[in-house]
Amino acid sequence: MTRVFSGVKPTGHLTLGNYLGAMRRWAAVDQHEADALFCVVDLHALTVEHDPARVRRLSRQAATLLLASGLDPEVCTVFVQSHVDEHARLSYVLECVATDGEMRRMIQYKEKAAREQRRGGSVRLSLLTYPVLMAADILAYGAGEVPVGDDQGQHVELARDIAMRFNQRYGHTFVVPRATHPEVAARVMNLQDPTSKMGKSDDVGPGIVYLLDEPDVMRKKVMRAVTDSGREVVYDREARPGLANLLEVLAACSGGSPEELAGAYQSYGALKKDAAEAVVEVLRPVQERHKELCADPGYVERVLRDGAARARGMARPTVDAAYRAIGL
Ligand code: ADP
Repeated sequence: MTRVFSGVKPTGHLTLGNYLGAMRRWAAVDQHEADALFCVVDLHALTVEHDPARVRRLSRQAATLLLASGLDPEVCTVFVQSHVDEHARLSYVLECVATDGEMRRMIQYKEKAAREQRRGGSVRLSLLTYPVLMAADILAYGAGEVPVGDDQGQHVELARDIAMRFNQRYGHTFVVPRATHPEVAARVMNLQDPTSKMGKSDDVGPGIVYLLDEPDVMRKKVMRAVTDSGREVVYDREARPGLANLLEVLAACSGGSPEELAGAYQSYGALKKDAAEAVVEVLRPVQERHKELCADPGYVERVLRDGAARARGMARPTVDAAYRAIGL
Protein backbone atom coordinates (compact mmCIF):
# COMPACT_ATOMS: atom_id res chain seq x y z
CA MET A 1 0.00 0.00 0.00
CA THR A 2 1.34 3.44 -0.90
CA ARG A 3 2.33 5.57 2.06
CA VAL A 4 1.00 9.14 1.87
CA PHE A 5 2.12 12.12 3.94
CA SER A 6 0.89 15.72 3.97
CA GLY A 7 0.46 18.60 6.38
CA VAL A 8 -0.80 22.09 7.22
CA LYS A 9 1.09 24.93 8.87
CA PRO A 10 -0.53 26.60 11.89
CA THR A 11 0.46 30.11 10.80
CA GLY A 12 -3.11 31.35 10.57
CA HIS A 13 -6.69 30.17 10.29
CA LEU A 14 -7.20 27.49 7.67
CA THR A 15 -8.70 28.66 4.40
CA LEU A 16 -10.84 27.50 1.52
CA GLY A 17 -7.56 27.17 -0.42
CA ASN A 18 -6.22 24.65 2.11
CA TYR A 19 -9.50 22.76 1.98
CA LEU A 20 -10.01 22.57 -1.80
CA GLY A 21 -6.31 22.28 -2.64
CA ALA A 22 -5.49 19.60 -0.11
CA MET A 23 -7.62 18.64 2.91
CA ARG A 24 -10.72 17.59 1.05
CA ARG A 25 -8.90 14.93 -0.96
CA TRP A 26 -7.08 13.70 2.12
CA ALA A 27 -10.41 12.85 3.70
CA ALA A 28 -12.29 11.73 0.60
CA VAL A 29 -9.59 9.70 -1.13
CA ASP A 30 -6.13 9.43 0.41
CA GLN A 31 -7.01 8.10 3.84
CA HIS A 32 -9.00 5.27 2.25
CA GLU A 33 -6.66 4.36 -0.58
CA ALA A 34 -3.32 4.67 1.17
CA ASP A 35 -1.55 4.24 4.45
CA ALA A 36 -1.82 7.94 5.22
CA LEU A 37 -0.36 10.37 7.74
CA PHE A 38 -1.55 13.96 8.17
CA CYS A 39 0.33 16.38 10.30
CA VAL A 40 0.03 19.85 11.79
CA VAL A 41 3.52 21.06 10.94
CA ASP A 42 4.03 23.43 13.85
CA LEU A 43 7.84 23.63 13.55
CA HIS A 44 7.27 25.33 10.19
CA ALA A 45 5.22 28.03 11.89
CA LEU A 46 8.34 29.28 13.70
CA THR A 47 10.07 30.32 10.47
CA VAL A 48 8.43 33.75 10.50
CA GLU A 49 7.52 36.27 13.20
CA HIS A 50 5.11 34.44 15.53
CA ASP A 51 3.42 34.58 18.88
CA PRO A 52 4.03 31.37 20.92
CA ALA A 53 0.56 31.20 22.47
CA ARG A 54 -1.06 31.79 19.07
CA VAL A 55 0.95 29.02 17.42
CA ARG A 56 -0.16 26.61 20.15
CA ARG A 57 -3.80 27.67 19.79
CA LEU A 58 -3.71 27.48 15.99
CA SER A 59 -2.06 24.05 16.07
CA ARG A 60 -4.89 22.70 18.17
CA GLN A 61 -7.44 24.39 15.92
CA ALA A 62 -5.81 22.99 12.76
CA ALA A 63 -5.80 19.48 14.23
CA THR A 64 -9.47 19.83 15.14
CA LEU A 65 -10.26 21.03 11.61
CA LEU A 66 -8.38 18.09 10.08
CA LEU A 67 -10.67 15.77 12.02
CA ALA A 68 -13.70 17.93 11.20
CA SER A 69 -12.87 17.68 7.50
CA GLY A 70 -13.42 13.94 7.75
CA LEU A 71 -10.05 12.42 8.62
CA ASP A 72 -10.78 9.30 10.63
CA PRO A 73 -8.09 8.42 13.20
CA GLU A 74 -9.18 4.79 12.89
CA VAL A 75 -7.98 4.67 9.29
CA CYS A 76 -5.19 7.27 9.13
CA THR A 77 -2.67 8.89 11.46
CA VAL A 78 -3.23 12.49 12.58
CA PHE A 79 -0.55 14.14 14.70
CA VAL A 80 1.49 17.25 15.47
CA GLN A 81 5.01 17.47 14.01
CA SER A 82 6.79 18.68 17.16
CA HIS A 83 5.47 15.67 19.11
CA VAL A 84 7.72 13.43 17.00
CA ASP A 85 11.46 14.19 17.40
CA GLU A 86 12.37 12.28 14.24
CA HIS A 87 11.48 15.25 11.99
CA ALA A 88 14.14 17.52 13.50
CA ARG A 89 16.61 14.65 13.83
CA LEU A 90 16.38 13.81 10.14
CA SER A 91 16.29 17.42 9.02
CA TYR A 92 19.84 18.04 10.22
CA VAL A 93 21.19 15.05 8.33
CA LEU A 94 19.41 16.18 5.17
CA GLU A 95 20.93 19.65 5.57
CA CYS A 96 24.22 17.87 5.02
CA VAL A 97 22.97 16.67 1.64
CA ALA A 98 21.06 19.74 0.39
CA THR A 99 22.87 22.84 -0.86
CA ASP A 100 22.64 26.52 -0.07
CA GLY A 101 21.98 27.29 -3.76
CA GLU A 102 18.99 24.94 -3.87
CA MET A 103 17.43 26.66 -0.88
CA ARG A 104 17.89 30.15 -2.28
CA ARG A 105 16.14 29.18 -5.52
CA MET A 106 12.87 28.30 -3.75
CA ILE A 107 10.14 30.70 -4.86
CA GLN A 108 8.39 30.70 -1.47
CA TYR A 109 11.68 31.59 0.24
CA LYS A 110 12.22 34.55 -2.07
CA GLU A 111 8.65 35.78 -1.57
CA LYS A 112 8.54 35.31 2.18
CA ALA A 113 12.04 36.68 2.78
CA ALA A 114 11.11 39.80 0.78
CA ARG A 115 7.92 40.16 2.83
CA GLU A 116 9.80 39.90 6.14
CA GLN A 117 12.28 42.54 4.95
CA ARG A 118 9.48 44.86 3.82
CA ARG A 119 8.01 44.57 7.32
CA GLY A 120 11.38 45.65 8.71
CA GLY A 121 12.09 42.26 10.27
CA SER A 122 15.07 40.00 9.78
CA VAL A 123 14.93 36.75 7.83
CA ARG A 124 15.25 33.69 10.06
CA LEU A 125 17.69 31.01 8.99
CA SER A 126 14.87 28.49 9.40
CA LEU A 127 12.94 30.20 6.60
CA LEU A 128 15.79 29.31 4.27
CA THR A 129 16.09 25.72 5.51
CA TYR A 130 12.33 25.11 5.78
CA PRO A 131 12.16 22.96 2.62
CA VAL A 132 14.75 20.59 4.14
CA LEU A 133 12.57 20.11 7.20
CA MET A 134 9.68 19.48 4.83
CA ALA A 135 11.78 16.89 3.00
CA ALA A 136 12.45 15.26 6.39
CA ASP A 137 8.69 15.24 7.14
CA ILE A 138 8.08 13.29 3.95
CA LEU A 139 11.14 11.05 3.81
CA ALA A 140 10.98 9.94 7.45
CA TYR A 141 7.77 8.06 6.66
CA GLY A 142 8.78 6.58 3.33
CA ALA A 143 5.90 8.44 1.71
CA GLY A 144 5.59 7.74 -2.01
CA GLU A 145 2.91 10.36 -2.59
CA VAL A 146 2.43 13.83 -1.21
CA PRO A 147 -1.01 15.30 -1.98
CA VAL A 148 -0.61 19.09 -1.94
CA GLY A 149 -1.78 22.26 -3.68
CA ASP A 150 0.22 23.62 -6.61
CA ASP A 151 2.25 26.00 -4.44
CA GLN A 152 4.04 23.12 -2.73
CA GLY A 153 5.13 21.39 -5.94
CA GLN A 154 8.63 22.89 -5.91
CA HIS A 155 9.26 21.79 -2.33
CA VAL A 156 8.21 18.20 -3.04
CA GLU A 157 10.47 18.24 -6.09
CA LEU A 158 13.33 19.24 -3.78
CA ALA A 159 12.48 16.38 -1.40
CA ARG A 160 12.75 14.06 -4.43
CA ASP A 161 16.17 15.43 -5.34
CA ILE A 162 17.44 15.11 -1.78
CA ALA A 163 16.16 11.52 -1.49
CA MET A 164 17.79 10.51 -4.77
CA ARG A 165 21.08 12.19 -3.89
CA PHE A 166 21.17 10.59 -0.45
CA ASN A 167 20.37 7.14 -1.86
CA GLN A 168 23.04 7.51 -4.50
CA ARG A 169 25.74 8.62 -2.08
CA TYR A 170 24.99 6.52 0.97
CA GLY A 171 22.97 3.57 -0.26
CA HIS A 172 19.25 3.09 -0.73
CA THR A 173 17.52 4.55 2.32
CA PHE A 174 14.56 6.66 1.21
CA VAL A 175 11.48 6.17 -0.92
CA VAL A 176 11.55 8.87 -3.63
CA PRO A 177 8.28 10.81 -3.26
CA ARG A 178 6.15 12.59 -5.84
CA ALA A 179 3.57 15.35 -5.47
CA THR A 180 -0.06 14.88 -6.51
CA HIS A 181 -2.42 17.82 -7.10
CA PRO A 182 -6.20 18.10 -7.42
CA GLU A 183 -7.61 18.49 -10.96
CA VAL A 184 -9.38 21.74 -10.18
CA ALA A 185 -8.66 24.37 -7.53
CA ALA A 186 -5.04 23.28 -7.10
CA ARG A 187 -4.34 26.97 -6.53
CA VAL A 188 -7.27 28.96 -5.15
CA MET A 189 -6.57 32.66 -5.60
CA ASN A 190 -7.18 35.57 -3.24
CA LEU A 191 -10.66 36.95 -3.99
CA GLN A 192 -9.43 40.56 -3.77
CA ASP A 193 -6.20 39.93 -5.68
CA PRO A 194 -6.66 37.02 -8.05
CA THR A 195 -3.03 37.17 -9.15
CA SER A 196 -1.84 35.87 -5.77
CA LYS A 197 -2.89 32.69 -3.98
CA MET A 198 -5.35 32.60 -1.12
CA GLY A 199 -2.82 32.08 1.67
CA LYS A 200 -3.66 31.95 5.35
CA SER A 201 -0.45 33.73 6.26
CA ASP A 202 -1.28 36.89 4.29
CA ASP A 203 -3.29 39.10 6.61
CA VAL A 204 -5.66 40.38 3.95
CA GLY A 205 -8.95 39.12 5.32
CA PRO A 206 -11.55 40.21 2.73
CA GLY A 207 -9.99 38.13 -0.04
CA ILE A 208 -9.69 34.98 2.05
CA VAL A 209 -12.50 32.60 2.95
CA TYR A 210 -11.66 30.96 6.26
CA LEU A 211 -13.09 27.53 7.08
CA LEU A 212 -14.64 28.92 10.26
CA ASP A 213 -16.11 32.12 8.77
CA GLU A 214 -19.84 32.56 9.43
CA PRO A 215 -21.84 31.59 6.31
CA ASP A 216 -22.92 35.20 5.76
CA VAL A 217 -19.33 36.40 5.93
CA MET A 218 -18.36 33.79 3.31
CA ARG A 219 -21.23 34.91 1.07
CA LYS A 220 -20.16 38.56 1.35
CA LYS A 221 -16.54 37.75 0.53
CA VAL A 222 -17.47 35.76 -2.56
CA MET A 223 -20.04 38.33 -3.74
CA ARG A 224 -17.38 41.08 -3.43
CA ALA A 225 -14.71 39.09 -5.27
CA VAL A 226 -12.76 41.18 -7.78
CA THR A 227 -13.54 40.19 -11.35
CA ASP A 228 -13.10 42.57 -14.28
CA SER A 229 -15.20 44.91 -16.34
CA GLY A 230 -16.14 42.40 -19.06
CA ARG A 231 -19.62 40.90 -19.35
CA GLU A 232 -19.20 37.49 -20.87
CA VAL A 233 -18.52 34.55 -18.56
CA VAL A 234 -15.45 32.77 -19.97
CA TYR A 235 -12.83 30.54 -18.39
CA ASP A 236 -9.42 32.09 -19.04
CA ARG A 237 -6.85 31.93 -16.24
CA GLU A 238 -4.45 34.38 -17.87
CA ALA A 239 -6.78 37.09 -19.14
CA ARG A 240 -9.60 36.75 -16.56
CA PRO A 241 -8.00 35.42 -13.37
CA GLY A 242 -10.76 36.55 -10.97
CA LEU A 243 -13.50 34.96 -13.01
CA ALA A 244 -11.47 31.80 -13.58
CA ASN A 245 -10.92 31.53 -9.83
CA LEU A 246 -14.66 31.72 -9.11
CA LEU A 247 -15.38 29.13 -11.81
CA GLU A 248 -12.78 26.80 -10.32
CA VAL A 249 -14.11 27.25 -6.81
CA LEU A 250 -17.64 26.54 -8.01
CA ALA A 251 -16.48 23.51 -10.01
CA ALA A 252 -14.53 22.14 -7.05
CA CYS A 253 -17.49 22.61 -4.69
CA SER A 254 -20.36 21.47 -6.86
CA GLY A 255 -18.87 19.32 -9.63
CA GLY A 256 -18.54 19.94 -13.36
CA SER A 257 -15.61 21.57 -15.10
CA PRO A 258 -14.85 25.31 -15.06
CA GLU A 259 -15.16 25.39 -18.88
CA GLU A 260 -18.64 23.84 -18.85
CA LEU A 261 -19.78 26.08 -16.01
CA ALA A 262 -18.61 29.18 -17.88
CA GLY A 263 -21.05 28.32 -20.68
CA ALA A 264 -23.92 28.01 -18.22
CA TYR A 265 -23.81 31.60 -16.88
CA GLN A 266 -24.95 34.82 -18.52
CA SER A 267 -23.81 37.17 -15.75
CA TYR A 268 -21.10 37.54 -13.12
CA GLY A 269 -23.75 38.16 -10.45
CA ALA A 270 -25.44 34.79 -10.94
CA LEU A 271 -22.08 33.02 -10.96
CA LYS A 272 -20.99 34.71 -7.74
CA LYS A 273 -24.28 33.86 -6.05
CA ASP A 274 -23.99 30.17 -6.93
CA ALA A 275 -20.29 30.08 -6.01
CA ALA A 276 -21.08 31.64 -2.62
CA GLU A 277 -23.82 29.10 -1.88
CA ALA A 278 -21.62 26.22 -3.05
CA VAL A 279 -18.82 27.31 -0.70
CA VAL A 280 -21.23 27.62 2.24
CA GLU A 281 -22.66 24.16 1.51
CA VAL A 282 -19.31 22.44 1.08
CA LEU A 283 -18.07 23.83 4.40
CA ARG A 284 -21.29 23.33 6.37
CA PRO A 285 -20.53 19.74 7.49
CA VAL A 286 -16.96 20.72 8.39
CA GLN A 287 -18.21 23.55 10.60
CA GLU A 288 -20.82 21.33 12.25
CA ARG A 289 -18.29 18.60 13.05
CA HIS A 290 -15.82 21.23 14.28
CA LYS A 291 -18.38 22.46 16.76
CA GLU A 292 -18.98 18.93 18.05
CA LEU A 293 -15.26 18.28 18.41
CA CYS A 294 -14.73 21.52 20.32
CA ALA A 295 -17.18 20.23 22.90
CA ASP A 296 -14.89 17.23 23.53
CA PRO A 297 -11.30 18.53 23.76
CA GLY A 298 -10.19 15.31 25.50
CA TYR A 299 -10.96 13.37 22.33
CA VAL A 300 -8.72 15.54 20.13
CA GLU A 301 -6.00 15.29 22.77
CA ARG A 302 -6.17 11.47 22.72
CA VAL A 303 -6.15 11.31 18.91
CA LEU A 304 -3.01 13.45 18.78
CA ARG A 305 -1.25 11.46 21.49
CA ASP A 306 -2.00 8.13 19.80
CA GLY A 307 -1.17 9.59 16.39
CA ALA A 308 2.25 10.78 17.58
CA ALA A 309 3.05 7.37 19.08
CA ARG A 310 2.12 5.65 15.82
CA ALA A 311 4.06 8.18 13.72
CA ARG A 312 7.15 7.83 15.92
CA GLY A 313 7.08 4.07 15.43
CA MET A 314 6.97 4.51 11.65
CA ALA A 315 9.65 7.21 11.39
CA ARG A 316 12.21 5.80 13.81
CA PRO A 317 13.55 2.88 11.71
CA THR A 318 14.01 5.08 8.61
CA VAL A 319 15.72 7.87 10.51
CA ASP A 320 17.98 5.37 12.33
CA ALA A 321 18.88 3.85 8.97
CA ALA A 322 19.73 7.29 7.56
CA TYR A 323 22.00 8.00 10.56
CA ARG A 324 23.83 4.72 10.07
CA ALA A 325 24.12 5.21 6.31
CA ILE A 326 25.65 8.68 6.63
CA GLY A 327 28.27 7.53 9.15
CA LEU A 328 26.81 8.24 12.60
P1 ADP B 1 -0.65 28.24 3.60
O1 ADP B 1 0.09 28.61 4.86
O2 ADP B 1 -0.17 28.91 2.38
O3 ADP B 1 -2.14 28.25 3.73
P2 ADP B 1 0.15 25.42 4.05
O4 ADP B 1 1.60 25.32 3.77
O5 ADP B 1 -0.31 25.25 5.44
O6 ADP B 1 -0.34 26.72 3.31
O7 ADP B 1 -0.63 24.42 3.10
C1 ADP B 1 -1.40 23.31 3.47
C2 ADP B 1 -1.88 22.68 2.19
O8 ADP B 1 -2.82 23.53 1.54
C3 ADP B 1 -0.74 22.47 1.17
O9 ADP B 1 -0.95 21.24 0.50
C4 ADP B 1 -0.90 23.62 0.21
O10 ADP B 1 -0.41 23.32 -1.08
C5 ADP B 1 -2.41 23.79 0.19
N1 ADP B 1 -2.79 25.17 -0.14
C6 ADP B 1 -2.47 26.28 0.56
N2 ADP B 1 -3.00 27.37 -0.02
C7 ADP B 1 -3.65 26.93 -1.13
C8 ADP B 1 -4.40 27.57 -2.16
N3 ADP B 1 -4.60 28.88 -2.15
N4 ADP B 1 -4.95 26.81 -3.13
C9 ADP B 1 -4.78 25.47 -3.14
N5 ADP B 1 -4.08 24.80 -2.21
C10 ADP B 1 -3.53 25.51 -1.21
